[in-house]
Amino acid sequence: MRIATCLALTLALSAVAHAAPTDAAHDAGVADGAVVAVPALKLPSPWSQFKTAANGPAQSIGAYSAGCVAGAVPIPLRGDGFRIAKPERRRIFGHPILVGTIQDLGRRLKSLHLPPLFVGDLGQARGGPAPSGHASHQTGLDVDIQFVAGGNKMVDAVKQQPLKIFTDKVARIVELAAADPRVERIFVNPILKRALCTRTDEDRAWLRKVRPWWGHDDHFHVRLACPPDSLGCLPQPALPPGDGCGELAWWFDTKAQADRAKAHDSYSSKVGAAPPLPEGCKALLDPQPETPP
Ligand SMILES: [Zn+2]
Repeated sequence: MRIATCLALTLALSAVAHAAPTDAAHDAGVADGAVVAVPALKLPSPWSQFKTAANGPAQSIGAYSAGCVAGAVPIPLRGDGFRIAKPERRRIFGHPILVGTIQDLGRRLKSLHLPPLFVGDLGQARGGPAPSGHASHQTGLDVDIQFVAGGNKMVDAVKQQPLKIFTDKVARIVELAAADPRVERIFVNPILKRALCTRTDEDRAWLRKVRPWWGHDDHFHVRLACPPDSLGCLPQPALPPGDGCGELAWWFDTKAQADRAKAHDSYSSKVGAAPPLPEGCKALLDPQPETPP
């Protein structure tokens, strides 16, 4: 299904200029891997075994796709304007700034009488690589959010168009998330980014943060910037100036098909992989008491 989306993208008939996406091919820039069919890790990763956060002050360490988090907190399973969609997955831990951002956005939606957020994966209790689903989400700064309850898809991959279910209300939720100064990037399907570019008239500044990526047709992926006091957190390259709407050509250009396939393979290989983690993550693997003595 996901691969079909990708193939449909590669078959798009749009003779346009050639420019690789600015977020692709940066290791630190890998979005989430729910979009690709690659084998999960065979060996259980120690990171997926932890049920409790690592003690200590909150610190995001390393890169979004090769890192960990100390002092993570679990998000409540529900609150004003948000629900955890799949609590049984236990990917409910994040840096306190991430949890606060989600809670604030939920409150905002509620005050605007918009539908609540249906929140997918944050990260594991101590971050680190997950055995499946994502390449990133390792430093407590990433969260997936369903566009609508139930995680319906928003695009017709064959027609290369958003579905009617991608309403103004849904677009408004993405806009509100992007406008939060703590949010650095939001990944959505290229078809949705293109739709947002054409339907947004006035304030377009937030569009800059909305980046096209494979998949992301049933959820958007919110990524926070490195917290200022997380000195070991590796930031991504700065976003290029502008709203990013002129950079969409690469995703739809038939001439870029081989280039896209190569970039997609590189991205796929990172999902479920075990990247070398920074030195600072080793201490988080030490057994720690469940509760302070
Ligand atoms: Zn994600």
